[in-house]
Amino acid sequence: HRRAQGRGKKGGPAVTRPPRIALFGGTFDPIHSGHLRSAAVVGRRFGLDRILFVPSNIPPHKARRDMAPARDRMAMVELALRGRPRFAASPIEIRAGGTSYSIRTLRRLRRLHPRARIFFIVGTDAFLEIKTWKEWRSVLDESLFIVMTRPGVGLAKARRAPGAEYADRVRPVGRTERVREDWFSASRIFLFPIDALDVSATEIRGRIREGRPLAGLVSAAVARYIRARKLYL
Ligand code: ATP
Repeated sequence: HRRAQGRGKKGGPAVTRPPRIALFGGTFDPIHSGHLRSAAVVGRRFGLDRILFVPSNIPPHKARRDMAPARDRMAMVELALRGRPRFAASPIEIRAGGTSYSIRTLRRLRRLHPRARIFFIVGTDAFLEIKTWKEWRSVLDESLFIVMTRPGVGLAKARRAPGAEYADRVRPVGRTERVREDWFSASRIFLFPIDALDVSATEIRGRIREGRPLAGLVSAAVARYIRARKLYL
């Protein structure tokens, strides 16, 4: 049932549903096991055909002076995703340059995949700020949201974040519930409880500065890249 397209069981007519493409945006400074693990769980449960990891060029919210250069963040995402066929690193925001706004990325993606269902994967921390996103109403109208809980940030708060007028679009997804195609026309914002790893890029950068080990927090290839490029020192 996970195939977007293909022959029916007996070689009959192709069974088709719109492809499900998700956009997972972030600074990825650096990409870590929390991103990978949660994307894998979300991808399985929502039957996503492809998850695009999109490092922002200049994030509107989180620009820091000590942010690693965009091409390094991009290279680390590529390294971390190697050998994972449903995950892809997308340079769409870095190539566009300037400040990265989700609405622009979303519209570009829509032009590239006119038939697809386009999802946004965000952690609750990011979703709580939804009203500060450029053209946030359009972002919500033009995509489906999968909001993952992170430790310490509750779903109840996330539910209220876009305001009362969006309440009927929100659907909490049970821990074992199977996501169904017909949900997507009625509900547009899915609250998805996830046992997120208690790991953040901030913590990882701190560890690097202090010379502490990164084992299990980033992939071996990413750890090597960070050392070779002397990032976050
Ligand atoms: P920083 O510590 O620098 O703020 P971060 O670890 O939150 O970074 P981002 O690149 O800002 O990483 O996150 C991109 C997206 O991934 C956001 O939607 C965020 O909520 C989500 N995310 C980050 N860490 C985790 C985690 N451990 N589990 C689940 N989702 C996560």
